[in-house]
Amino acid sequence: MSTATPTLQAYRASLLHFRADPAFDDAAALWHEDGLLVVEDGRVKAAGDHAALVSTLPPGLAPVDYRGKVIVPGFIDTHLHYPQTDMIASPAPGLLPWLETYTFPTERQFGDPLHARATAEFFLDELLRCGTTTAMVYCTVHPESVDAFFEASAARNLRMVAGKVLMDRNCPDFLRDVEGDLGQSEALIGKWHKRGRALYAITPRFAPTSTDIQLRLTGELAARHPDTFIQTHVSENQDECRWVGELFPQARSYLDVYDQVGLMRPRALFGHCIWLDDDDFARMTATGSAAAVCPTSNLFLGSGLFDFARADAAKTLLSLGTDVGAGTSFSLLQTMNEAYKVARLKGSYLPALRMFYLATLGAARSMRLDDTIGGFAPGLEADFVVLDPQATPLLARRTGNCDGLEELLFALALLGDDRTVMATYSAGQEVHRR
Ligand SMILES: [Zn+2]
Repeated sequence: MSTATPTLQAYRASLLHFRADPAFDDAAALWHEDGLLVVEDGRVKAAGDHAALVSTLPPGLAPVDYRGKVIVPGFIDTHLHYPQTDMIASPAPGLLPWLETYTFPTERQFGDPLHARATAEFFLDELLRCGTTTAMVYCTVHPESVDAFFEASAARNLRMVAGKVLMDRNCPDFLRDVEGDLGQSEALIGKWHKRGRALYAITPRFAPTSTDIQLRLTGELAARHPDTFIQTHVSENQDECRWVGELFPQARSYLDVYDQVGLMRPRALFGHCIWLDDDDFARMTATGSAAAVCPTSNLFLGSGLFDFARADAAKTLLSLGTDVGAGTSFSLLQTMNEAYKVARLKGSYLPALRMFYLATLGAARSMRLDDTIGGFAPGLEADFVVLDPQATPLLARRTGNCDGLEELLFALALLGDDRTVMATYSAGQEVHRR
């Protein structure tokens, strides 16, 4: 008799995950100083105290010994652009000149499947080095760029969300969709959405690069495929907001342009959200839409400072994005570092626990994927990261005298980067080791 043997593995380390948002629940964090994570067939079987769980392991199964390390759910980056990998850290005075000078010429190359695939491979390597196991990714207008990305992520069995950029005005001819034709996006949904671990995001770049017709058809496409994702940019900088006001004089606000065509709904992620007003945040919450906060990008381009207090007052779903290539790091630890400073400059305060929540369960909830990823509840996909508090001499020195969990996490967020990620696992398989 032969049956497939289930793969069972266990990992002993400190464990951190969440069951709620620490901003609204004092008992949101689940922390096991001497913890055990048990993984079976790529999914979480159990997570808890080592002392309580070790006796449940079959005889002869010795846990992987990560004592002294911290295991957290794989980080989730809710906003970035894989084609912009090669133009990260390119100088330009603001968003609109940066798009003209660097972005459009760089994205032109992604009609070439070989170039797209090679860039996707490097990009995924970089995400995994930083402990990011799921990302919401913009491709380019070329369907080839989407195929290349999903082929690369499928080869590594990663839970990834991506889509073809839609753009039919205010862009170079070589990046322009045929007005009124969303056939390529519809075909890509059929080809990739829910194939393996791939998920499709309908991706209008931002309101100024779509005609009214394209936006209306995009809303209809989203209505025909209610379980797909939507991603776009909104209210990133003030020049852009003024431009949207001129292009769409009938809209109450920039966000309202999307609202009017049905692009606000659960699984819709809006990048930046810096200049939203209270009515906009109320609409975000009422429609189940979520904000992808991108502090390194916002500081780099001088776009503005996200208002965490205002968003929290409306109880809007929040998550963190690196926004590479306007963002300056693939690391969500570095992104937490800058988010913390942005919050301080706006007069609010982000505890480290909150930042780790935003990069894990908070992002999963924003994407309505918390029944799949983002924590260690039994049955969730076993995407996780092993963080090393001794990764650098400075981190070792600082974490050697931390008083409690919040100080430890704060040091990891403020001093950590890709070096802090000792190993990354996707569906129970090691996909990166430092
Ligand atoms: Zn972006």
